[in-house]
Amino acid sequence: MSTERAASAESTSPLVSVRDLRTWFELRQWGFLRVGSVRAVDGVSFDLGRGESVAFVGESGCGKSSLARTLLGLHRPTGGEVSFDGYRVQDLAGRDLQWYRASVGYVQQDPYGALPPFMDVRRILAEPLVVHGVTDRAERERRIRRALEEVRLGPGDAILDQFPHMLSGGQQQRVVIARALVLEPAMIIADEPVSMLDASVRVEILNLLRRIQSERSLTLAFITHDLSTVRHYADRIFVMYAGRIVEQAQVDELLEHPQHPYTQALLAAIADVDAANARRVRDVPAGEPPSLLHPPPGCRFHPRCPHAMAGTCDVRDPGMFEPRRDHLSACWLHER
Ligand code: SF4
Repeated sequence: MSTERAASAESTSPLVSVRDLRTWFELRQWGFLRVGSVRAVDGVSFDLGRGESVAFVGESGCGKSSLARTLLGLHRPTGGEVSFDGYRVQDLAGRDLQWYRASVGYVQQDPYGALPPFMDVRRILAEPLVVHGVTDRAERERRIRRALEEVRLGPGDAILDQFPHMLSGGQQQRVVIARALVLEPAMIIADEPVSMLDASVRVEILNLLRRIQSERSLTLAFITHDLSTVRHYADRIFVMYAGRIVEQAQVDELLEHPQHPYTQALLAAIADVDAANARRVRDVPAGEPPSLLHPPPGCRFHPRCPHAMAGTCDVRDPGMFEPRRDHLSACWLHER
């Protein structure tokens, strides 16, 4: 299988293909009575190219983190499928599953929580190498130092002996990124990687990820609620709402010509906040996201949508339309 993998890696096919992916979580009362399912991810399809940088954007609870965790293999899909480099991830086991786990790095939101407090940096970075069978100590040391240099924490021995509590938030996140790199992955999933950092280091970390992505030709998937900064690091955007992708396009195209009313509301709210130079972020857009236990029928955005058409939007689920070239939007307004 490794020879086939090498051949596949040369191909121009997408690195990741996701089709009709569903990740539902069963809710039970008293531990046994099934009362329903939270449809965190509900019918999501997309491809990610090799070396592409994308952002999954949406409000809290839209399903973007559940999607990330499903891609990482931390949640088992309820339905649909994920293919990575041509292999169906749900079918992988043993060494093949280990290969997949080494191929997809993870940068968590909370760097301090992501790092074991009782390990120094050398041990934190060595552990995934040991787990994945890199037995040669010199090779481990080489890879650790390379990863630290890539995240601008090396060279030098001082950092290797530090424990997480001795590092700043920015340094901790650099160690998390180094840990994601040390297995030389083909893709990194970064879940809100700067939301818990001081404003002063956010740009540095985003620039760092973008540079590493470019130098290594990595596929980079950002999970974020912040549409205002994606232009700086993403090639393509997927906007998520209530467990689904409602709009997708290249970043400039989407930001300059948003088609879906939800995306338009998100962008209008950013403009409002900028214009007022205000610190508050109003309820954006007005109203609450729906319950994923009982999502609304038809278009899930219809209870909040200023353009909702009675008898259509509240009844029929919109498919994806292409109102502009290579720009998809799940909205009945684009039906021709
Ligand atoms: Fe609004 Fe209808 Fe479009 Fe949904 S399908 S976003 S409710 S106009």
